[in-house]
Amino acid sequence: MADRDGVIWLDGEMVPWREAKTHVLTHTLHYGMGVFEGVRAYKAEQGTSIFRLKEHTDRLFNSAKIMRMAIPYSKDQLNQAQRQVVRENKLETAYLRPMCFYGSEGMGLRADNLKTHVMIAAWTWGAYLGNEAMEKGIRIKTSSYTRHHVNIAMCKAKANGNYINSMLALREALDDGYDEALLLDVEGFVAEGSGENFFVIKDGVIYTPDLTAALDGITRRTLLAMAKDLGIEVREKRITRDEVYIADEAFFTGTAAEVTPIRELDRRPIGEGMRGPITTQLQSLFFDIVHGRNPAYLDWLTPVAE
Ligand code: PMP
Repeated sequence: MADRDGVIWLDGEMVPWREAKTHVLTHTLHYGMGVFEGVRAYKAEQGTSIFRLKEHTDRLFNSAKIMRMAIPYSKDQLNQAQRQVVRENKLETAYLRPMCFYGSEGMGLRADNLKTHVMIAAWTWGAYLGNEAMEKGIRIKTSSYTRHHVNIAMCKAKANGNYINSMLALREALDDGYDEALLLDVEGFVAEGSGENFFVIKDGVIYTPDLTAALDGITRRTLLAMAKDLGIEVREKRITRDEVYIADEAFFTGTAAEVTPIRELDRRPIGEGMRGPITTQLQSLFFDIVHGRNPAYLDWLTPVAE
């Protein structure tokens, strides 16, 4: 990733991609205290546009507040910087990665002279789980790793350190021949994927876990708004793994994963074992929205052009 052309926004300046470096004593590298976002820009009818930029930046600032990291820029500055990064890298579609991290000003947990640095990179990234997954659905496995307890990790924060748990779960699932992990919370109820929110559909109703242990996903919020507009009932509630086994359809949502159908959990096919009709309908509306093809949702798109 480090060896490529392009520019990265780092602490207020555009830096050549290969020179956007940090010292090995970077505090966040040692202890994981940092916050970040994953954002996408799509080639929309109105020109390349960032999807729900405001909400992503708001969540970044909330994550920083939870971690007591002071971001030395305004939301507007970071929004403009994200548009600029896509523009200057001449990207038509992009995945954007803003991150706030502590530098090498001090070491140890007691360091009191740390500065919050901010970087924003952007590159082209296709379907996170592959194009085939979007049509056929993926196979997932209940993880042996439990999702964070609300008083151990701060689940509302998209914090770097929280992703150790995600990586352990994902690697276990991949090693076992599955595409993704389904993590349960400390009480055994379904929480989310390693980087996605989770939904099931039963008898025409959409169910999704509440946000106790899951990230407040912006794609999840998008799905809830879409379902409401389509007149599909949604219920946020605790979900058990056996409810998933007997559901009609299931899917994941996320900025990277977009709307990814799930065809199997723990070797039990879900519904017909393929992408279901409501998932197909939601997926197609989602892609219309992000590409600016649905006039009702244009407020969610921020064109990168000046
Ligand atoms: N849960 C986790 C753990 C995630 O990392 C993500 C990706 N940010 C999501 C859910 C989905 O969130 P969003 O739709 O905002 O990308």
